[in-house]
Amino acid sequence: MTRRISIFGSTGSIGESTIDLIARDPEAYETVALTGGHNVARLAEQALQLQAEIAVTAHEENLAELRDRLAGSGIETAAGARAIEEAARRPADWVMSAIVGAAGLPPGLAALEEGATLALANKETLVTAGPLVLETARKHADKGARLLPVDSEHSAVFQGLVGEEMSAVERIIITASGGAFRDWPIEKLAEATLAQASAHPNWDMGQRITIDSASMFNKALELIETHEFFGVGPDKIEVLVHPQSLVHALVGFNDGALMAHIGPPDMRHAIGYALHWPTRKRLPVDRLDLAAIGALEFRAPDETRWPALRLAREVMQAGGLSGAVFNAAKEAALDGFIAGRINFVRMSEVVEEVLTRLSADSGLIHADINLDNVLRADQMARNEAARIIETT
Ligand code: NAD
Ligand code: MG
Repeated sequence: MTRRISIFGSTGSIGESTIDLIARDPEAYETVALTGGHNVARLAEQALQLQAEIAVTAHEENLAELRDRLAGSGIETAAGARAIEEAARRPADWVMSAIVGAAGLPPGLAALEEGATLALANKETLVTAGPLVLETARKHADKGARLLPVDSEHSAVFQGLVGEEMSAVERIIITASGGAFRDWPIEKLAEATLAQASAHPNWDMGQRITIDSASMFNKALELIETHEFFGVGPDKIEVLVHPQSLVHALVGFNDGALMAHIGPPDMRHAIGYALHWPTRKRLPVDRLDLAAIGALEFRAPDETRWPALRLAREVMQAGGLSGAVFNAAKEAALDGFIAGRINFVRMSEVVEEVLTRLSADSGLIHADINLDNVLRADQMARNEAARIIETT
């Protein structure tokens, strides 16, 4: 039986890896929707290759070009955030959430409401609105709604928990490569350039998550994602620096056992696991030769080097909409760094200032976690960050 699939963010790093997997077995899948941003040429190419029902670009100004490129193909086209959300409402069995940033939240929620399995690469979905997303998945579970992790660490934990009781879990350890500046002298970090921050030692990913790996904001988001997805208290979640990026996560049990997930740094493993779950299928990833690798190193993370980790713990303690504020402030600070308006170190300072200012508004932080309030908190945090950056 063919499965109906959609890919949100199909032109990105995760989107391309997802297409790589499904294109190897074209008979097994029917493509419903593909969505992208400015890379219209690639989006059109993908839509033709997979014979998608609809291709959607996030930007209205790209619609004419997308239409031209798909003229005569019978593939529908659309543009804008609302069109992306509508595309997520088309019946699909499996939906890849691989847009970058909080923009991934509305289509993810829409797909769950329609009863899809949501393969979640977009960690921002759980960071900004974890309780709402989990509740939506539960509410529509009878129609088939379900969340599966795709972030490599969370896929690793998920695999480590198969057949286990959550009550026996003592701790969850997610690993971090340490990113581009793991071994830089801390006092040099303020001079880090965009090009230096955009080069990851082990993983080939989108630019934003690569810079977030250097600042550890990626790991900070993943701490919150772990807390939300697995329902584990912040005190039971640890980060371990592991330069080789081969052990992705470890689950510690009450008998002292640690179950580690080891695999090559290739997102097609986690994507493929979510695609074929609950079964395992052969995947085109390298097989590790541990004898050749020889050694795996681990060290404790230095929170002076990476203040993002401390901020994530504060966010988990505060709860409510502080995750939405944290993520939006981070996105705005990252925009500021990419645009050359603030330096690398200033990013975490901006995020902390936004959190401090907006946390004083407990009406904002502790409002109901619904989509309107999440988007409001998100917008307020972006505005606040923009003000802070302007006066920097
Ligand atoms: P990317 O930048 O390579 O691709 C992002 C995709 O989203 C592109 O298709 C882009 O056109 C689209 N997009 C960007 N802004 C958009 C907007 N405002 N509205 C709609 N679409 C938009 O990113 P990526 O590295 O593939 O990461 C995607 C998500 O997966 C992120 O949340 C990231 O944290 C997560 N993730 C990525 C990796 C990885 O290896 N790349 C690993 C784990 C988790
Ligand atoms: Mg990850």
